Amino acid sequence: MGLNELSISELRRSLRAQEIRPQEIIDDIYSRIDEIEDKVGSFITITRDNAYKSAEGVGKTIKEGHIAGIPIAIKDNLCTKGILTTCASKMLYNFVPPYESTVTKRLSEQGYILIGKTNLDEFAMGSSTENSAFHVTRNPWDLGRVSGGSSGGSATAVAAGECAAAIGSDTGGSIRQPASFCGVVGLKPTYGRVSRYGLVAFASSLDQIGPITKNVTDAAIMLNAIAGHDPLDSTSAAVNVPDFTEALGKEIKGLKIGIPTEYFTEGMDREVEDSVHSAIKRLETLGANVVEISLPHTGYAVAAYYILATAEASSNLARFDGVKYGFRAEGKNLLDMYRNTRTEGFGVEVKRRIMLGTYVLSAGYYEAYYRKSEQVRTLIKQDFDNAFKEVDVIITPTSPTVAFKIGEKTSDLLQMYLSDIFTISVNLAGLPAISIPCGFTNSNLPIGLQIIGRHFDEETILKAAYAYEQGAQWHLRRPDL
Ligand code: GLN
Repeated sequence: MGLNELSISELRRSLRAQEIRPQEIIDDIYSRIDEIEDKVGSFITITRDNAYKSAEGVGKTIKEGHIAGIPIAIKDNLCTKGILTTCASKMLYNFVPPYESTVTKRLSEQGYILIGKTNLDEFAMGSSTENSAFHVTRNPWDLGRVSGGSSGGSATAVAAGECAAAIGSDTGGSIRQPASFCGVVGLKPTYGRVSRYGLVAFASSLDQIGPITKNVTDAAIMLNAIAGHDPLDSTSAAVNVPDFTEALGKEIKGLKIGIPTEYFTEGMDREVEDSVHSAIKRLETLGANVVEISLPHTGYAVAAYYILATAEASSNLARFDGVKYGFRAEGKNLLDMYRNTRTEGFGVEVKRRIMLGTYVLSAGYYEAYYRKSEQVRTLIKQDFDNAFKEVDVIITPTSPTVAFKIGEKTSDLLQMYLSDIFTISVNLAGLPAISIPCGFTNSNLPIGLQIIGRHFDEETILKAAYAYEQGAQWHLRRPDL
């Protein structure tokens, strides 16, 4: 087995014992990338020279650092100083940021090794990574299927052994859904837990950065590395950051698990439903108490999300005008140049969302759509607040289906949008949630289980996820590429 197959905690153990050197890890990572990258397409930019250079410097940090010498991939919507950051858009095809995002800065200070920048749906808008301006990322379990999205490149890179862990961003499910489709672990922290400084904004009130890893322990290690207040992000929360690994291995006897009836409706794959039910049973045998709960406004979540997310996106993306960054088209005058730049620089999904967003914010429709959706958002949050008076965590499938075929949903947008029906409410309410593997279909496609927690209570979801993972061991299966 190559070193590229190992998890963060395994690599860390061997590094600390001086059985291996960071350079050897990187050798194995890049030989894996050379072997399979043409098939899967996880990356937009590969930072090989940079990686070897960083490896030389990590020596001293290995003893204390949690991620020193660990090969990590970063979604290409986090700014990395001096390294191309495209958001998978023609608009930023040549954009080299002059500054570093807080998350990558923290990882750097702790000695991580950047392997490359991963593919995504353009500006993180999508559920399949088919909206990238560059190429699709294929699912390592079945190359004819999507990797999920928008952090499809990050999820595939982890599942296929092209890095030990990766960073993604999640606005409506973009960490959890691709993690579920690729059979790996994806954690969306509480809104405010991780600084968004240097993350190219999609919908600022929903966006959150988090890890995609091979197992739950690594998710806790990564969260330790990136969490915490940041004066550069006014929405980052000044709350205490515990050592998340301490939650692992604790008993879950007496843990109250809520199962929302609204999440088990028609339209769900049979095999997904069965696997999720078996996972819940397994948690019951570990001593958890399972109760049915109701989240009555669930049915409005997708509609409210697509109004709020597009409204915020239309405002955030106004800055891409051909003047400040990246791509610039020709024009007869200034207005013409703006128009041509935005027409040619953005892909169709991004343009669709900007138009929808400006529409719902326009004077005549603001009250009817934007304001109403904000009210719905409050109701959805209240549903969760009420549920969490009774239960400690809420369990649902991550997605109603397993990875779908490439091209299957590109012409049916509603179907594509419904792919996030189980993840979107969590962003609207600002809650933390994790997706972990909970089984495979007969055709060997991974299925994901979502565990949702109270605000800033990542510890309890990690504890429950770890307890399940220990017995189930689905996370040890790897795709055969
Ligand atoms: N798939 C959802 C969307 O298209 C969520 C994207 C995300 O979380 N970045 O908006």
